[in-house]
Amino acid sequence: MSRKRVLVTGGAGFIGSHLCERLLEEKNDVVCMDNLFTGQKDNIRRLMDNPYFEFIRHDILEDVYVECDQIYNLACPASPIYYQYDPIKTGKTSVIGALHTLGLAKRCHARILQASTSEVYGNPKVHPQPETYFGCVNPNGVRSCYDEGKRMAETLFFDYHRQHGVDIKVIRIFNTYGPRMRSDDGRVVSNFIVQALRGDDITIYGDGMQTRSFCYVDDLIEGMVRMMNSREGFTGPVNLGNPLEITMLELAETVIRLTGSKSKIAMFPLPQDDPVQRKPMIDLARNELEWEPMVSLEEGLKRTIDYFKTI
Ligand code: NAD
Ligand code: UDP
Repeated sequence: MSRKRVLVTGGAGFIGSHLCERLLEEKNDVVCMDNLFTGQKDNIRRLMDNPYFEFIRHDILEDVYVECDQIYNLACPASPIYYQYDPIKTGKTSVIGALHTLGLAKRCHARILQASTSEVYGNPKVHPQPETYFGCVNPNGVRSCYDEGKRMAETLFFDYHRQHGVDIKVIRIFNTYGPRMRSDDGRVVSNFIVQALRGDDITIYGDGMQTRSFCYVDDLIEGMVRMMNSREGFTGPVNLGNPLEITMLELAETVIRLTGSKSKIAMFPLPQDDPVQRKPMIDLARNELEWEPMVSLEEGLKRTIDYFKTI
């Protein structure tokens, strides 16, 4: 069997680097494209010696010319701190990045997967969220550059599919965590673990009663690869996430317990438009991809804590 040529944009990031590793294990020829805004060379350092791995430092806002059979489009900062750092660029990255990768898919007749997000549901009024829910999104708040950028990217994916017959796959990723998140990433799991290991206060925003559902990165990667290789004509969108829902207060207590930390909990104001609740319905992924998360929150947190102890 000849190797598939797979392009991963955002491949030096947290999820992207795990994906590149998995694709190489499966004997693909992997091109990792990243501008290293939030991604890091350290994430892919151990892949650099592999002759079937190439790293291209490239901004997705510039045209992309690579011959490939499959494209995973992950390029976009995902942490609120980073995507709000230059919100105009974040919007451009989602929209122009989608246009560039879709154009490439059209030219190469490649199959293309978009890393969309649970943020397309905004602050959801339907709970848990099925793929059929259109969401409740503020179009002009501080999170909109990311949420609306990702929504527009989904629109472009489906229009390229309808208008040009491009072979698309769209996944909506719910909060994912694991090794290789940056310690200064700002997302809740990495923040709490780093704070607990340092003995600093655990920073809860708001009253800590808002919920999220956390998926361990290995489970997500399995779902992504299954979706990419799913049956012809199944485009998604499909939710990929762990349906176990917990409050941020419960998460803080769990991290304190698992690290044996003496950290105290400290309350801070809730950021604007912070979703109150979030939990995926994953029936579609179960039925179409025969996928569901296997790693429990405690096990995933332990592995992530072990990682942060080493850096
Ligand atoms: P990340 O920030 O670690 O990865 C994003 C990568 O994209 C980084 O390596 C970054 O340098 C790169 N990038 C950003 N802008 C770019 C540009 N203009 N050109 C080229 N590369 C660029 O975040 P992640 O958690 O690994 O997220 C990966 C993808 O998954 C993102 O598209 C994100 O929106 C999506 N996603 C992640 C989660 C999650 O919980 N981790 C949830 C929903 C969706
Ligand atoms: N959060 C928190 N303390 C932190 C970081 C985040 O309480 O130090 C909260 C945040 O307000 C949100 C939840 O944790 O309600 C998840 O935040 P994250 O940025 O990880 O992801 P997102 O809000 O994009 O789901």
